[in-house]
Amino acid sequence: MTTPQFILTEFVSLAPLTSWRIGGVARYLATVRSAHGVAEAIAFADTHFLPVWILGGGSNMLISDDGLPGLVIRMRDMTVDIQHRSGVAAVRIGAGAPMAGTVRQLISAGWAGLSWAEGLPGTVGGAVYGNAGCYGGAMADSVTHVELWRGGNIASVGPHELGFSYRSSALKRHVVPKLIHGMHVGDIEPIVVGATIQLTQEDPQLLATQLAETAALRKSKTPQGSSCGSVFKNPPGDSAGRLIEAAGLKGASVGTACVADKHANYIINRGGATSADVCTLVAHIRATVQAQFAVTLEPEVQILGAEWSFNA
Ligand SMILES: Cc1cc2nc3c(=O)[nH]c(=O)nc-3n(C[C@H](O)[C@H](O)[C@H](O)COP(=O)(O)OP(=O)(O)OC[C@H]3O[C@@H](n4cnc5c(N)ncnc54)[C@H](O)[C@@H]3O)c2cc1C
Repeated sequence: MTTPQFILTEFVSLAPLTSWRIGGVARYLATVRSAHGVAEAIAFADTHFLPVWILGGGSNMLISDDGLPGLVIRMRDMTVDIQHRSGVAAVRIGAGAPMAGTVRQLISAGWAGLSWAEGLPGTVGGAVYGNAGCYGGAMADSVTHVELWRGGNIASVGPHELGFSYRSSALKRHVVPKLIHGMHVGDIEPIVVGATIQLTQEDPQLLATQLAETAALRKSKTPQGSSCGSVFKNPPGDSAGRLIEAAGLKGASVGTACVADKHANYIINRGGATSADVCTLVAHIRATVQAQFAVTLEPEVQILGAEWSFNA
């Protein structure tokens, strides 16, 4: 039996699909497993005049308590295809593949280049969108091209057009060129369908050691509890966590949303926190750090839905 490429459900609670465990209900949720599934989902949204949001692993987003009154497309293409020659691999990964699991799979096969991403929550599509990175590595180091679904076409886009920068990309900045390789690719926000990364062959034993080191490092630095990872980007030459801690904000809370003791750039949902609680706390952190250090902290996390923002 073939797996359906597009499954539609209605009135779906989004909180369980996010790492913060926060967010209201999606009017429609389309779970898609391929570019064909994306096309079906977009056709459904067009027919019903619905706004569209894209959900990867939900590990870098804050969804409104009021939910999303349209179609949420959840990317679940987890295919991994390895083509290699002379110790160099081009690996095509579906946008819905989990980063951490995929990295472990590639490393156990002896492919080096992604050890930094051991334990990184979220999907490959989300990691491309935000140029996820840590411990000296980032997606921009390995991605050779990305398949973008946009306006009914799939365009193959290289790193130059993707405009990767620190925890950002042209996708996240909403500035992907409308013309790619001479092809007009429409007006709706592009969707990452898959990405190809370049890796090199390495001794699996050595890679296993690197993986264990990264896992230990991550464990030692990550607070327990539901979070989105770092809420803010690090400002140039400094660390957001250091500034928040120096401002005396460790332990600050609104409702059950609380600045973590272990790492001040994390906000933990202690259970039952709302997106309104998080927004109020984020605005308070930004205003306090601005007042004390004249530094404007820029959120790394994305807000989906409603009309509120992180500004005080
Ligand atoms: C405990 C913890 C630790 C973390 N540590 C790190 C870290 O070390 N480094 C780091 O960089 N991040 C870290 N993060 C944040 C997060 O894991 C990354 O940003 C991750 O890459 C987000 O991927 P996702 O699939 O969950 O994206 P989501 O949260 O689902 O989406 C984030 C944004 O990307 C968009 N998006 C997702 N998929 C697609 C797609 N296929 N096409 C178009 N747009 C898409 C969404 O619409 C949204 O705007 C951490 C998070 C947690 C919870």
